[in-house]
Amino acid sequence: MFRFPSLDLIRVSAVVALACCLILGSLGLDGALRERTRADRSLEELHLFDLAAAAALSITAERRPLEFALDLDLNENVGAISELRGARINTDLRIEAFRSALGALADSEGMNFGFLQTVLRDERRRADALLILPLDKRLIGAQLSAARGMSTISDAFKPFVDKVSKRVILANENLAGRVNIARLLSTLYESAARLPTEVMPALRRGEMLPPEAGMTAMRLRQRILALWDVGLSQLEYEIASKPLQNSLEEIRATYFGRGFPYISYAIETFSRRPMRGSENARAIAQVYGPTIEPIAQMRDRYLQWMMVDAAQAQANATRQAQIFLGLTAASLFAAAIFALTGYRQILKPLLGFRDQILAACERKPFERVPYHGSVAAVRHLYRALETLEARDRERLALDRERTALSEKLRALSETDDLTHLPNRRGLFDQLSRFSLSDQDYVAILVDIDHFKAVNDTHGHGVGDEVLFTFAQCLKTRMGPDVLVARYGGEEFALAVRAQSPERLVHFAEMVRTEIENLHFATSEGILRLTASFGVAHERGPVSSWPTLLSLADKALYEAKAAGRNRVRLTNAAMQLAGKSGRSEVGAGDASAPAILMTAV
Ligand code: GH3
Ligand code: MG
Ligand code: MG
Repeated sequence: MFRFPSLDLIRVSAVVALACCLILGSLGLDGALRERTRADRSLEELHLFDLAAAAALSITAERRPLEFALDLDLNENVGAISELRGARINTDLRIEAFRSALGALADSEGMNFGFLQTVLRDERRRADALLILPLDKRLIGAQLSAARGMSTISDAFKPFVDKVSKRVILANENLAGRVNIARLLSTLYESAARLPTEVMPALRRGEMLPPEAGMTAMRLRQRILALWDVGLSQLEYEIASKPLQNSLEEIRATYFGRGFPYISYAIETFSRRPMRGSENARAIAQVYGPTIEPIAQMRDRYLQWMMVDAAQAQANATRQAQIFLGLTAASLFAAAIFALTGYRQILKPLLGFRDQILAACERKPFERVPYHGSVAAVRHLYRALETLEARDRERLALDRERTALSEKLRALSETDDLTHLPNRRGLFDQLSRFSLSDQDYVAILVDIDHFKAVNDTHGHGVGDEVLFTFAQCLKTRMGPDVLVARYGGEEFALAVRAQSPERLVHFAEMVRTEIENLHFATSEGILRLTASFGVAHERGPVSSWPTLLSLADKALYEAKAAGRNRVRLTNAAMQLAGKSGRSEVGAGDASAPAILMTAV
């Protein structure tokens, strides 16, 4: 069976529900905000990484115009100088952009831009010192060393890229793989750009490739192949973006399909025999140079893709935080509305209802508060209370009616129909109350003399009339202090508080005389009657009214026997009335009553 939970349980549940909403909401919100912060940081660090990679790329890209210039007479080829200058300005701008984006971070991360600038300046000066010489004065070793200076600059910049890479991974470890791919692409580009550096000087002079340059070129080739095989060629299955897949395909087709085999062939050939100079050198520069560009393009696209993805993650995190915030607010609002409505629609009415029920049970007046809520069960309860009250009112009225009826019944059962005096039952009922008081009482029995003759002579109707009038006379003459009852037939009982002895006798005699002198009006005419009196008395509270009354009856019998129309006292009553010294008083024998005057 369903048991309604206690109020405390409801209150506790409401608080727990609200707390759960709050805790779950804040946990979710906290998670979403953390995600958002991580996305923000990832994006910031990726931006730095992009700037660093772009600077590294510019340094690598500076190599080609330098190598061109080293191979040319600058008096005749001013364009090559301006191209080299443009490349250098580009590098400087990129490095500066990276530096200013780093700001104070450069110092805290221990990034030494001073050293980088020194290396950059020294290596460029070394190359410039060579470039101002006429073409035939430039030694192969010096040319190789000047071109290798670009690698020195690249190597000097590498720690910067390392640091920002680490920062990206620290901000978001999920980006580690992507950062490594971007770096692989940069390294591949750098290595591919370095490869002709080793070959060109010897080639220009039409000399055989020096063994040391050949070895370096071989190492670079191995490195390029390893980078490609291990790191990149697998990428096409992982990159979802179409442009990136295209770029990868282009690297495969352009660089590894044309550029790389071409230079590999050249290296192997020059290692065995010298080749004719400048045309071959130019051919290599023209054929090989452009084939490395897809690598740079891929790196750019890849970084761009990473940035877009990170921005997307940032937007997602923001949306997630907003959703959590909205959901938390909505669930808190809903829980609060639920609790408030529950309190106003159910709990408060129920508490009021309880008070009303208690008041109704105790039949105390109470203010009826109507229910305006919309919960059907509570509304039914209120209606039930109204029904209950109506039933209670009906029952109350019935109770009153029943009480009145039983009172009436009791009065009827204790009242004599004919005389309207208490009957014997009524007499004893009232006497039972008398006996409680600490007083002397006297019982008097009055019997109409020769009453049978009234019936016999004038009929029972007249007899009834006489009985009624007799009773009325007794009642009106006795007054309120005397209890008058019809004892049976034409016999009446009087109970009166004992007065002084003289007064008692006087009282009985007075009543007898009054009766004697009375004229009873009947339908037949005027009738005169006499009556005999038996008086009994007991000192102190009456122990038994029946005993006292039977004593009175005995005295009455004696009064009858002595000739009727007289008062007879018991011994005790006589003692009480001792002063008069008489046991009876009376006017003498009574004759049978007869109609004195016929009614008109
Ligand atoms: P006594 O002087 O010895 O008392 O003679 P009595 O005739 O009065 O006494 P008895 O006992 O012989 O008769 C009593 C009569 O009272 C008999 C009865 O018919 C009559 N009686 C009793 N109750 C009623 C009543 O309610 N109505 C009428 N009409 N008569 C009654
Ligand atoms: Mg009698
Ligand atoms: Mg009689």
